[in-house]
Amino acid sequence: MDFDLTPEQQQLRHAVREFVKKECPPEVIHRALAEGHHSKALWRRMAELGWLGAAIDERYGGSGGDIMDMALLVEGLAPGDPAIGPFFNTVCFGGKSVGYFGSEAQKEFFLPRITSGECVFGLSITEPGGGTDVLGAMQTRAERDGDGWVLNGAKMFTSAAQQADYLVVVARTTRREAVKKAAEGITLFIVPGKAPGVSMRKIDMLVPIEDTNAVFYDQVRLPADAVLGEEGRGFYHLLATLNNERILGGAAALGLGTAAYEAALLYSRQRTAFGKIIGQMQAIQHYLADMATELDAARLMVYRAAWLQSQGRECGVPATMAKMYAADVAVRACDRAIQIHGGMGLSNECEVARYWRLARLWQIGPITNEQCRNIIGQLHCELPRSY
Ligand SMILES: Cc1cc2nc3c(=O)[nH]c(=O)nc-3n(C[C@H](O)[C@H](O)[C@H](O)COP(=O)(O)OP(=O)(O)OC[C@H]3O[C@@H](n4cnc5c(N)ncnc54)[C@H](O)[C@@H]3O)c2cc1C
Repeated sequence: MDFDLTPEQQQLRHAVREFVKKECPPEVIHRALAEGHHSKALWRRMAELGWLGAAIDERYGGSGGDIMDMALLVEGLAPGDPAIGPFFNTVCFGGKSVGYFGSEAQKEFFLPRITSGECVFGLSITEPGGGTDVLGAMQTRAERDGDGWVLNGAKMFTSAAQQADYLVVVARTTRREAVKKAAEGITLFIVPGKAPGVSMRKIDMLVPIEDTNAVFYDQVRLPADAVLGEEGRGFYHLLATLNNERILGGAAALGLGTAAYEAALLYSRQRTAFGKIIGQMQAIQHYLADMATELDAARLMVYRAAWLQSQGRECGVPATMAKMYAADVAVRACDRAIQIHGGMGLSNECEVARYWRLARLWQIGPITNEQCRNIIGQLHCELPRSY
């Protein structure tokens, strides 16, 4: 059994950590938060470094990396949000989905543009009626109009929509009554973010990432080639990307928990009380020991799931477990880091409160931890499906 990263993976891990340390100091992060968008300069720099093309085939200008490379990138970049921008949506979702399901013309158009940093993607799946029972809640519809389509509906929590050049929108194209299974008759569309009929309202979120929005699609006219993948098979296409999303969600949580642990460790060596550093107090050492142990376990789970996926092996349960556990561990680690920082931990001048707010997202998205437990209960424990 080999637990070591390859020399190239170690190099990538080191490079991303150094990038965030050097390029994303608190003033850059807070400027991005105040301005409500990521740093365009950092986005360009990530394109130059080849990171925006990490998930893209070499034929389209990418570096053809695998899910392990993506996990290392996402883990390292996570504490740099919101300055580093919509990496997850654009690279991990947009790039991957076009790469998997796009027509040759779509690949040739979008993939080099993602790699070069020219285009940002958002993803509109969740609806006002609910994200967990996404099929039961789906009201967004696209209807044929000559050769093309007309899209109508509303979506919730579409991240980066204000900045997105393109939104991948999930819509029902065959009435629910006309298909046997709820997952049938759903199609993915690539919609220009500024298309006539697309409007949005920014939602004020606790999570300090790029903008998150309610997006409205009102009589949006789309050409035939806006369809991504096979008509009517969109939900099955989404299912094929789920493991990636879970592994990378786990990796992002891991990166945040680790950043919180490192900040707390540093603080515990500097802050004094009763004439000694607080790191000498047993209670503080126990907090740090628990954080280090749980993060180590979460890292093994995330990397194992990524490794299984990269080998083309079944990883549905390991990916679900990894995202759920890493998100819970990250939130606990951030909470402990706040405690170790005392009052300063709850100030916006201190990065650990921001890490907590970021980590909290991963217990809810891209799938809630309750739903993860349902899936593990069903697929791993082999109990009756509960949802
Ligand atoms: C910051 C942020 C960014 C996001 N970005 C995007 C994005 O870019 N694109 C996008 O499409 N979506 C996005 N989402 C939406 C996210 O995927 C959903 O919030 C998530 O899927 C949960 O859906 P919901 O919020 O509608 O909660 P609901 O589905 O309404 O669930 C409410 C509660 O009920 C629980 N619950 C529901 N069913 C069950 C069950 N069977 N058993 C046990 N518990 C259950 C849930 O776990 C949850 O605790 C984002 C969310 C956040 C917070």
